[in-house]
Amino acid sequence: MAVQETVERKYVYDFAEGNKDLKDLLGGKGANLAEMTNLGLPVPPGFTITTEACQEYLATGREPDGLADQVAAHLAALERAMGRCLGDPDDPLLVSVRSGAKFSMPGMMETVLNVGLNDRSVVGLARQAAGSGEQADPAGADRFAWDSYRRLIQMFGKTVCEVPGEEFEHALDDVKRARGIRDDVELDADDLRGLVDAYKKIFRKHTGRDFPQEPREQLDLAVRAVFDSWNAERAVLYRRQERIPASLGTAVNVVAMVFGNLGPDSGTGVAFTRDPASGAQGIYGDYLANAQGEDVVAGIRNTIPLQELERLDKRSYDELLDIMARLERHYRDLCDIEFTIERGKLWMLQTRVGKRTAAAAFVIAGQLVDEGLIDLDEALHRVNGAQLAQLMFPRFQLDHEFQAVARGIGASPGAAVGQVVFTSARAVELAAEGKRVILVRRETNPDDLQGMIAAQGILTSRGGKTSHAAVVARGMGKTCVSGADALEVDVPARRFTVAGQTVAEGDVVSIDGTTGNIYLGEVPVMPSEVVQYFEGTLDPERTDDALVRAVHRIMGHADQRRRLAVRANADTGADAARARRFGAQGIGLCRTEHMFLGERRELVERLILARTDDEREKALAALLPLQRADFVEIFREMDGLPVTVRLIDPPLHEFLPPLEQLAVNVAVAQERGEDVAQEEALLAAVRRMHEENPMLGLRGVRLGLVIPGLFAMQVRAITEAAVQCARDGVTARPEIMVPLVGAVQELETVRAEAERIIAEVVGGSGVEVLIGTMIEVPRAALTAGQIAEAAQFFSFGTNDLTQMGWGFSRDDVEGAFFWRYLELGIFGISPFESLDRDGVGRLVRIAAEEGRAARPDLKLGVCGEHGGDPDSVHFFHEVGLDYVSCSPFRVPVARLEAGRAAVETTGSDSR
Ligand code: PEP
Ligand code: MG
Repeated sequence: MAVQETVERKYVYDFAEGNKDLKDLLGGKGANLAEMTNLGLPVPPGFTITTEACQEYLATGREPDGLADQVAAHLAALERAMGRCLGDPDDPLLVSVRSGAKFSMPGMMETVLNVGLNDRSVVGLARQAAGSGEQADPAGADRFAWDSYRRLIQMFGKTVCEVPGEEFEHALDDVKRARGIRDDVELDADDLRGLVDAYKKIFRKHTGRDFPQEPREQLDLAVRAVFDSWNAERAVLYRRQERIPASLGTAVNVVAMVFGNLGPDSGTGVAFTRDPASGAQGIYGDYLANAQGEDVVAGIRNTIPLQELERLDKRSYDELLDIMARLERHYRDLCDIEFTIERGKLWMLQTRVGKRTAAAAFVIAGQLVDEGLIDLDEALHRVNGAQLAQLMFPRFQLDHEFQAVARGIGASPGAAVGQVVFTSARAVELAAEGKRVILVRRETNPDDLQGMIAAQGILTSRGGKTSHAAVVARGMGKTCVSGADALEVDVPARRFTVAGQTVAEGDVVSIDGTTGNIYLGEVPVMPSEVVQYFEGTLDPERTDDALVRAVHRIMGHADQRRRLAVRANADTGADAARARRFGAQGIGLCRTEHMFLGERRELVERLILARTDDEREKALAALLPLQRADFVEIFREMDGLPVTVRLIDPPLHEFLPPLEQLAVNVAVAQERGEDVAQEEALLAAVRRMHEENPMLGLRGVRLGLVIPGLFAMQVRAITEAAVQCARDGVTARPEIMVPLVGAVQELETVRAEAERIIAEVVGGSGVEVLIGTMIEVPRAALTAGQIAEAAQFFSFGTNDLTQMGWGFSRDDVEGAFFWRYLELGIFGISPFESLDRDGVGRLVRIAAEEGRAARPDLKLGVCGEHGGDPDSVHFFHEVGLDYVSCSPFRVPVARLEAGRAAVETTGSDSR
């Protein structure tokens, strides 16, 4: 034997050589088959070809050196274990060749069953099937063998050699028609023998060669087809949607065939160890006697509930239940299972930690703690903020009266009901009349934006989770179902058809953005119990609602474990109160600009139009008591907790009427000979203040430096409100925040004036006011060391930091072209939704480190939208911020994720 010079890479693992932690290498299916084998469970013998072999094959276009020999060695071992040889003419071993990536990609890749059958071994298989059955049935055995053979040619032809599947279907239909039968199972052995001939001809016609008779060649070609299926179009699409890296590749499992279709004492089924919908304990599953797995999937025959297996085959049933209990204890989680019974002998074909609904995730985690299988840290790790957010949306109250008429992709969660409209303009029109509408389109484009804003929900017949409709709807927090391809949308005719029914403009539909279900008519909507719990109207100690009890318990643990405080962004007393009920520990951003709207707009106009100091001071003096009253209201609600008030940020011309409208008004009034002096002055001011890029113009701290007295008035209102509260026994803890600072000198100027006013107002009241800044301009992040000298706290404005970091106009880009960026994979999620760790995150990290180096007690928080985004919360925990601040509704999500971040061990995999 030649001496090997290099150690050959191991590409093939016997099931006994792997374990459940080797998913990267063996894929999910292979790793779990290995685990079950090592637990001593009845798994048909087999081996797994690694994902590394697949990666090399995909990179080079050929199987890696050594793979063929390793497969031969493992096949020989398998043959020894089974006492049969692959494709042996007298007593053949058959194998299945199954894909299995690290993350489950249901139905996306290929499987070939019955490999090893050929013109000779089919006869051996029939003999073997007839010989070992309880009820000897040579005709049935013959039928079984030829049916298995025709299935192999069909599956092999289609997946390995790209023979069009319909050709096989047609040939099958022809035989059935000729024999006057409807069901495949009525075909007898002669029919199937004839069908094998027909299939072989189809195979030859399309491939130019005969169906391969050599078993090993069949095996090698099937393995190659599974490798290739990693790059099949649907698999690529699925990966993009689920954000599964394209580099992973799939493993291939070669498993000895066991047959569930050998007679009434055989069958196949699926089972869950608990209810994956509600989390309830019990036995959940389906069974189909005398069938193979693909028959269950094809839905040709009706399955029976798993419990009925007890009556049919008590021994296998008891064994299965015993195995299910063992698997749960072993995996310490809900498992799902596929099994086959071959003539009264149970075989486990697959298990994995099962997917579940958001509600079941919480309920099961709580149950497993009760059962002593996991601790609370682990329970916290097993749920996530996205699931909690899902549970906080209102839901449809569904009873049997409502059947979904179609199902699309749940692209943006929530339950929306409304009249169908087909154009953006019509949506806007009806919404203006106070009607609720659902905008239905084939797919949306940026011109639909107004309609999307006006609608309750969006329904499209095309596009996936990253389509324009989906991305924009998620950004708006609006319910969206996309890609409902059962809908024939006819926009010019203003109607769509689905399942033979026509839905015209004005008809009511209900769409569920979580499940993707579409209902005709109005489905009643009910509020979420979880929100009722957070609101304090549902007592977790008293309710028998298992979900609420589980959420309460896990949230309590998250609060105990988290290091990050959670605050809310709130501008009114009502929002502040809700935030507090939801567990906010302060206000991280009170935007003061809403206080300049409504009837106060006129005062702002006077301020902007002031020609003299006196006029300006009068306008500011009129605004002062109004602002003070606003702050008093918020401070009262947040008694004892910090409240960060941001000085005015948007450009002042935003508070004036739009230029075009004003110009038209003035022209019309002039035409009528009316006195337009005031409007003209306003128009002149608007023209003067007009900016091409207002987001980069006169806003934030720049306003404070340019408009005398504006910031001073706000600082005075904040401090006076705090002093007034102190007098009333309320503890106000104001933190004044200066927006859009880029240089320390800006902050120093504002700060000097603010400190003077604060000192004057505070007197002996004991009120303490902090002064800090937002970090939202890249230059501020890069000069944070200097800025920290003048700031008691930083709050990262990651909305602007993302806008200026990427140069993306935050008001335009998401609707305009992000769908394309997502499609191209430039990013997997909008950086306005989830923080871009590499770029914008780096700015945050630098500023946090350099700020703290300059001032060790610098308080650090974040108040951009990212403060409520699960993944971003983990990042903020990592970089050592003190708190995150987000909208009141997202406070519970941030609390949960901050807890998860604290307990998470590196490298854990929460998928
Ligand atoms: C930010 O920029 O992140 C921020 C919170 O401020 P605004 O969204 O008001 O610009
Ligand atoms: Mg900002």
